[in-house]
Amino acid sequence: MIVAENVEKRFGDALVLKRVNLRVEPGEVVTILGASGSGKSTLIRCINGLETLSGGKITVDGHDVSTKAGLVAARRASATVFQLFNLYPHMTALRNITLAPIEVLKLPKAEAEARARALLDKVGLGAHADAYPQQLSGGQRQRVGICRALAMQPRYLLLDEVTSALDPEMTGDVLRILAELAADGTTMVFVTHEIEFARHISSRIVFLEQGELIVDLPTAQFFAEDGGLAVRRIRQFLSKMK
Ligand code: ATP
Ligand code: MG
Repeated sequence: MIVAENVEKRFGDALVLKRVNLRVEPGEVVTILGASGSGKSTLIRCINGLETLSGGKITVDGHDVSTKAGLVAARRASATVFQLFNLYPHMTALRNITLAPIEVLKLPKAEAEARARALLDKVGLGAHADAYPQQLSGGQRQRVGICRALAMQPRYLLLDEVTSALDPEMTGDVLRILAELAADGTTMVFVTHEIEFARHISSRIVFLEQGELIVDLPTAQFFAEDGGLAVRRIRQFLSKMK
């Protein structure tokens, strides 16, 4: 389970996360919505220890990310995919995927490669194992990025706007993969502007407004027609997204 308790993050004078509380249970898909600058990426970066907290606490399966040993354990448990494809340009798709399993998990090369090929097959890129990133389309690169994250066999997959740099067709390819992962029970924390998709795959939706987590609801309830201030604000937000 990922647990964030009263998390605060400050950049200089700006408090960009304000007492954020969030729990992600195994098997859940939690989507984080919010306007640009509301703190979504910062929250993801805090969960994987890329930012130090200014207050509060985050644990991943009980491991406190603010301690050195806790962070190592937490990073083993979760893998992150970012908006921009951060594949190593001088390595093939296969090598990008096998690097960490070989170096970090100490898997034998043959086993790491067999797993990587199985993952590439799963995302429809079986024929592209030996391609370099510049020989792949944006959507294909992002699918390799997802394979690279999955190759570490994480219990949690953190996804920060993984489709926002893609055209609609490529977005569809990547979202299809994520829907399959969700159906397989992969636990995900998913930052997206793809509202309809979020509605389709999420078990819960949370909404950040200026660093405050103002709504945390089961998906059906989030999209239900009843009123309330928070829901009205979110409707406003959703209508601006279209
Ligand atoms: P977007 O939808 O545009 O990706 P976001 O919700 O992911 O936005 P964050 O990137 O988390 O927003 O940023 C939240 C706030 O923190 C913003 O005001 C941003 O300017 C600020 N911020 C983020 N990173 C830093 C940093 N390293 N130094 C200073 N301020 C930062
Ligand atoms: Mg962001």
